[in-house]
Amino acid sequence: MYCGRFAPTPSGRLHLGSLLSAAGAYLRALQAGGRCLLRLEDLDRPRCKAEYAGSIIADLKTLGFAFPEPVLIQSTDLDPYAQAVETLIHSGQAFVCACSRRAIREHPCTCRELHLPYKRGRAIRLQCSAALRDFTDERLGRIHVPLIPDSLILKRSDGIYSYNLACVVDDLRQGVTEVVRGSDLIASTPLQIYLYELLGAKAPRFLHLPLITARGGGKLSKQNHAAPILSRYQPSEAILLVLKLLGQDTRGLEGVTPAEIWPQAAQRFDLNAIARHDIEID
Ligand SMILES: [Zn+2]
Repeated sequence: MYCGRFAPTPSGRLHLGSLLSAAGAYLRALQAGGRCLLRLEDLDRPRCKAEYAGSIIADLKTLGFAFPEPVLIQSTDLDPYAQAVETLIHSGQAFVCACSRRAIREHPCTCRELHLPYKRGRAIRLQCSAALRDFTDERLGRIHVPLIPDSLILKRSDGIYSYNLACVVDDLRQGVTEVVRGSDLIASTPLQIYLYELLGAKAPRFLHLPLITARGGGKLSKQNHAAPILSRYQPSEAILLVLKLLGQDTRGLEGVTPAEIWPQAAQRFDLNAIARHDIEID
């Protein structure tokens, strides 16, 4: 059975870009007759706030999403990440690294040969294979990622498990069959597929959505579309806006309640209508 997910980082309120990812993941799951889980990726504690986690969940509800309970909140249980790191150290793929950030910039890390014991202040890294640079995206086809680092952080020196590790561990244990997310994560995908292999699991399918950028190539600012979506738009308006940005047919969906829009939009959801490049807005 199809299982997708929407996995925002609660470092702010829900904005246009995150709503676009949520919509893509949700519509894909509804159309496949499967389910879409919600996961809050809040391991990077300094960036995240509990109030944002609450506001994202509330905003998604207002926007008519019905995610199955319970919502997985990463910071509430670190054991699965610790176990995965342990497995990778035992199989000789991961190693303890004592390099400072500055040292890493100046010369490649050679800690793997040293077999250092783990202690506070040291990072855990994974040796990467540069051969793994290609993957197939469900929408974009074969993708080549030119730059793969020779090692990947699994646990930072400040004790925080990395995004890549936690994402793979969670997609695995939640039974996710397809990852729908923004194209900013394309560069991480081959590394994540490699992690699945090392953990003895089959990787899910991947589908990357276009990013929303300001016209002229700028970044979205807090004053415009990076602002909380529900501070600028009524819920139904916000949904119709992202459906249009995804190239979808919104005829007949005006005046429909948020909860009713999604199943109707899913019926006519057309993957091929989504732009193959970033979406520029004013
Ligand atoms: Zn090192």
